[in-house]
Amino acid sequence: MTPVIALVGRPNVGKSTLFNCLTRTRDALVADWPGLTRDRKYGEGKVGDIPYIVVDTGGVSGYEEGLDLEMAEQSYAAIQEADLVFFMVDARDGVTASDLMLAKHLRTAGKKTQLVVNKVDGLNEDTVLLDFFELGLGEPFPLAASHNRGVTTLITEALEWF
Ligand code: GDP
Ligand code: MG
Repeated sequence: MTPVIALVGRPNVGKSTLFNCLTRTRDALVADWPGLTRDRKYGEGKVGDIPYIVVDTGGVSGYEEGLDLEMAEQSYAAIQEADLVFFMVDARDGVTASDLMLAKHLRTAGKKTQLVVNKVDGLNEDTVLLDFFELGLGEPFPLAASHNRGVTTLITEALEWF
């Protein structure tokens, strides 16, 4: 089975940017994968010979401006159908209330989760990462998606779980 990776996190943390890096397209291919709903955006990618499916949450109506509740429902649905979650947070914002809410859900959901701290470009990584241990999801992975920095390492290490 091709692993399904869900990108979740608050609006504006860089989920779609990472999605584009991981699928190398701006216009994701929507395939008929059994068990996946169509109200989220799906894309395919490969590391070497190993294929994966990425799910971008957001871009669905109401989400970007959305209430925390809408974000949560979208995220929870994507988490449920995923084999692995990249939980993205913003290095510049630190830990927010929404981050804490999603983190709590992920800790109880029992899904493999990689915490990803995006937008580390221009920041001191070691210092900035420390804050995010508070989320209780293990070691944060530093990323600069818009600079394509860390993307290959992130996906390669994640796929070693499968
Ligand atoms: P989404 O709402 O989570 O899908 O976030 P987007 O992918 O739309 O990105 C939100 C904004 O953050 C855009 O202006 C991106 O260019 C910017 N962004 C994404 N990744 C990075 C990054 O690694 N560094 C910086 N500085 N900006 C980023
Ligand atoms: Mg987006």
